[in-house]
Amino acid sequence: MPHGLDNYENTNRLFDQGADAVGLDEDLRRLLKTPFREVRVEVPVRMSSGRIEVFLGYRVQHSGARGPMKGGLRYHPEVDLDEVRSLAALMTWKTALLDLPYGGAKGGITCDPLQMTEEELERMTRRFTARIGLAWGLHRDIPAPDLNTDARVMAWIMDEYSQHFGYTPGIVTGKPLALGGSPGREAATGRGVSIATREAARDLGIELKGARVAIQGFGQVGSHAARLLHGMGACIVAVSDLSGGLFAGDGLPFPDLYEHARERRAIQGFGRGESISNADLLTLDCDILIPAALGGAITEENARQVRASMIVEAANSPVTTIADAILAERGIPVVPDILANAGGVTVSYFEWVQNIQALTWEEEEVNARLERMMTRAYRSVVERMRSHDLSMRTAAFALAIERVAETETLRGGF
Ligand code: NAD
Repeated sequence: MPHGLDNYENTNRLFDQGADAVGLDEDLRRLLKTPFREVRVEVPVRMSSGRIEVFLGYRVQHSGARGPMKGGLRYHPEVDLDEVRSLAALMTWKTALLDLPYGGAKGGITCDPLQMTEEELERMTRRFTARIGLAWGLHRDIPAPDLNTDARVMAWIMDEYSQHFGYTPGIVTGKPLALGGSPGREAATGRGVSIATREAARDLGIELKGARVAIQGFGQVGSHAARLLHGMGACIVAVSDLSGGLFAGDGLPFPDLYEHARERRAIQGFGRGESISNADLLTLDCDILIPAALGGAITEENARQVRASMIVEAANSPVTTIADAILAERGIPVVPDILANAGGVTVSYFEWVQNIQALTWEEEEVNARLERMMTRAYRSVVERMRSHDLSMRTAAFALAIERVAETETLRGGF
């Protein structure tokens, strides 16, 4: 999997394709590629064994041209500055594409949360927040959940930040409802993925009812996407997570599988469907493939074996740039991450707006607004794609780059 330099290089290549499509000049190109601020902190934590472990934590604030910077926090052994930098840049393009009044940021801690106790995770989260919180702010930078961070982690952050800087529920999104979280936030990324899938399937002439869908990753994003697509009539033929994969040619049973995974935090032990590996899932004969786990799932090694008619990027950067070119050559369309998984940041924006106003919206209102914003962004990408003969990804980048370039130019200051 590409980590380290590869990630940022990948993102920059995608940026360049978009920048070429809008004829962006060299100065703006350099300005928009360069992160605004990068922070690294040491996070010492007393482990249950009595030893002190020192973790490394990062926050990269890529661009604040369009508003406060926004992006998730990731806990994973492979987190490094370059991965965070790449993900922060993607957030800039994602928020701009959805026309949210935000810039982009991302953060993470290099750790293995699956090997840590709840108490260790809480101590680590609190210490990280205390050390990096100076760089955050309701109108500066607002973190959110990502890989291995959830509402529970967001609650610790909100509490710790408030201890230092005064009560600030809006400092983080993806919180539990009781702490000012938004109805609909937990499912939002998966819901956005399902909306993007529905729209793209319609455009490509794939009948969603009965379409065979394979989903890699069954966490916050993948499980809700699967549940909602099943609700739209799709046949979820395969899902997988770290514990392995399940396949059923006539469709896996929902909501049973969803409930099982929610309870056990893994699909393992479900007892129905055939076992398949994560690698097999990616090359399964299906209509729609949805990578919803880690970056770099589809590479030059397996892109030629992909048999899906279309790919929807629910994870961030699951298709490398080389794989992207191979898929394009093979005529397999890819709905890009900055569009497909933008539902999460969109409802995070709704949560932040509700926190600032001290109001709570009904879930129906949240979902209806998300539906409108996702379909509007999807349509604008397709329009640009068709009018300029671009791939969907380059069209999405082009729209986003134009918006950020305009704000940077109007604000000036360089
Ligand atoms: P999560 O931690 O809730 O779930 C991750 C899932 O992927 C789990 O099912 C896990 O078992 C599985 N997984 C992990 N490593 C794997 C591997 N090597 N092979 C197969 N499966 C593996 O995380 P999430 O929030 O669902 O995020 C998933 C992806 O979506 C990430 O790329 C993240 O950046 C992206 N994303 C998340 C959000 C959000 O709101 N949570 C928003 C936008 C994008």
